[in-house]
Amino acid sequence: MSSATALKIEPAQAMGAMTGRRYIESLRDGREVWIDGEQVRDVTVHPAFKLMIGALARVYDLQNSQRYRDEMTFLEPESGVRTSVSWLLPHSAADLKRKRRNSELWNELTWGQLGRSPDILAPYIISALHLKDEFSKVKHRRCDFGENLENYYKYCIRNDLFLTHALGDPQVDRSEQPQNVRRGVQEDTQVSLHVVEETADGVIVTGGKQLSTAAVHSQECYVSLSATFANRNDPNCVLAFAIPTSSPGLTILAREPVSRWFGSWGHPLQMLDEQDCMLFFDRVLVPWDRLFMLYDPTPMVKMLGAAGGSVNFNFLGWANLCRAHFRMRLMTAVATMVAQAIGVIEYREVAAKLGEMVTYCEVWRHAMEGVEHEAGPSPTGQWSLGPGRGLHIWFAQTSGRMVELMREICGSGIIMQPSERDLANPKLRKYLDRYMRGKDVDVEYKSRLFRLAHDLAASSFGMRQDIYEYWHGGDPNRNRINLMRSYDQRAVMDQIRDLLKQPLPHGEVS
Ligand SMILES: Cc1cc2nc3c(=O)[nH]c(=O)nc-3n(C[C@H](O)[C@H](O)[C@H](O)COP(=O)(O)OP(=O)(O)OC[C@H]3O[C@@H](n4cnc5c(N)ncnc54)[C@H](O)[C@@H]3O)c2cc1C
Repeated sequence: MSSATALKIEPAQAMGAMTGRRYIESLRDGREVWIDGEQVRDVTVHPAFKLMIGALARVYDLQNSQRYRDEMTFLEPESGVRTSVSWLLPHSAADLKRKRRNSELWNELTWGQLGRSPDILAPYIISALHLKDEFSKVKHRRCDFGENLENYYKYCIRNDLFLTHALGDPQVDRSEQPQNVRRGVQEDTQVSLHVVEETADGVIVTGGKQLSTAAVHSQECYVSLSATFANRNDPNCVLAFAIPTSSPGLTILAREPVSRWFGSWGHPLQMLDEQDCMLFFDRVLVPWDRLFMLYDPTPMVKMLGAAGGSVNFNFLGWANLCRAHFRMRLMTAVATMVAQAIGVIEYREVAAKLGEMVTYCEVWRHAMEGVEHEAGPSPTGQWSLGPGRGLHIWFAQTSGRMVELMREICGSGIIMQPSERDLANPKLRKYLDRYMRGKDVDVEYKSRLFRLAHDLAASSFGMRQDIYEYWHGGDPNRNRINLMRSYDQRAVMDQIRDLLKQPLPHGEVS
């Protein structure tokens, strides 16, 4: 894929909305994936990856089914191709509603557990495309970066592609990084992804990225800079691009799978392990038509609001908001069912804890209504949700609290449940029926319900999800500081200053 026209896709070549079969086939592309010291020949059959691939293939098939087709797909006006609503560029309030419904369905169908589903990654390209003209302002004799973005967007929407994204530098020595106070101590290029050479076909890049969720399961890899890493010493480290996940020279290292065990306890959510990966680039070619930014971070800084400015356009909105909402409702419903199943729901303390969980669900729902209410057209004519800058920070802290509440409500039952083989064993079963049943529920129901709670709040899957919720939007402290710096307090501060100028009302008690 090195020709400059490779991404220019004619409507007749478009594949349209992804299907399960096409998705699975697309992953057999020679990508270089490693896990536990071994290279994986075919990710679609490997036990660490195949369940998640199957879960995604199922959703892709459902989006084409009679039942969901009208809600999850649409006809792209320019090409007439039917494709995913995740890639729809919103131009009206009705489009935003449509995107909301699509995101709700993606999350209902994946239990709100996929932080980096295709529906969540598509908006990254849509957000960049919104600033197409800014990307075009950075000039290079080989290409127009804004045009590249537009062509890439068309390539993605017409083939309904699944992207991963990788923004951060490897966690080697944070004290020496250029974005820190002691700027420039470390050579950016020791570990950071950087340009080593320009060729007629594109740039050659080398370096690492930490990390990239769903890299194993993706078709394309979008690489860029985060708010933390946008300001660099060395312009060679300033780049944004997208390449096929199977690009030669790109090595993907997957972490230990979560929620897997050799026994038969079963993990209801284990098919949703989306994997997190290190990316190692060793002289990887990035073709000119796949580059969106090079040497000058201005458009990305603008996009991220990294300069302390406010990001008023919220194209990432629905996918994350709907996911968080579903996850909160799931946690609350499981905790409520657990409280019922062991007869503690009437206790004041337990009911109050459940009430706290419901409060979070409701506050989030109100916030969703708020960003929808504040939606409107951007200067480029696309419709954006209203700003939701504090929301991901709030969710990062609330998510951990919900996990804590779940554990407090479950008591020891969250870890002490029989396995499927225990249940099937007649010698044990008489004890299980007697000593491990719940209030008005049999042992089988109770153990499966508690295992769901375990997967959400105690298993390695649950812990990974909790870690994800805390970190995935970037360092919450950095985000709090950026929000604080851009938060307009002038009006109330002026009012306070006026008050401070007034004489104090001494001793005048009426
Ligand atoms: C499960 C999971 C999935 C993720 N998925 C993706 C993904 O798909 N794509 C992607 O690009 N990224 C992803 N991330 C990365 C995520 O954005 C980062 O974890 C986050 O930005 C924090 O960076 P870090 O992990 O390198 O931690 P570090 O930056 O190394 O932070 C470690 C500690 O040091 C502190 N610290 C670091 N630097 C400073 C400083 N300058 N000043 C003060 N304190 C500092 C931090 O607050 C923290 O306590 C994912 C992370 C997780 C955990």
